[in-house]
Amino acid sequence: MAAIHLKSSVVSDFLRHAEKEYPNECCGFIIGTDDTKTKKGVEYLPAANTKDTNRERRFLIDPLAYQEAEDTADERGLSIISIVHSHPDHPDKPSEFDRNHAWPGFSYIIVSVENGNAKNYRSWQLAPDRNNFNEEIIKIIQE
Ligand SMILES: [Zn+2]
Repeated sequence: MAAIHLKSSVVSDFLRHAEKEYPNECCGFIIGTDDTKTKKGVEYLPAANTKDTNRERRFLIDPLAYQEAEDTADERGLSIISIVHSHPDHPDKPSEFDRNHAWPGFSYIIVSVENGNAKNYRSWQLAPDRNNFNEEIIKIIQE
């Protein structure tokens, strides 16, 4: 199984964001480095969920927010390696909607939030044939 390394501050930041946006879905980016062997996330950049309706079940990231995250990553010599979103009162597994909207190469981290408390999170990568997601191991690092 592939692995993604995340700074502990990145994890606490996206968990807090997921709880703050409850009962709506939160979304954001993780920027970091992507070597051939290991992906390493060093900073979480929250984004607004710009979906007009049904924000409890769907999220939409403004292309401008995506551009801003990319610019921030560029300035630090990093790149966007992961897109995070939450599933309020649903498991941390990708939905059919998630699969249809995912891009290969990114790690999709899904946070399950129950009654306002972030419970679990897992990381997923779209298979090259787009038919399913493969889970990635998350390793928490201190720096
Ligand atoms: Zn989802």
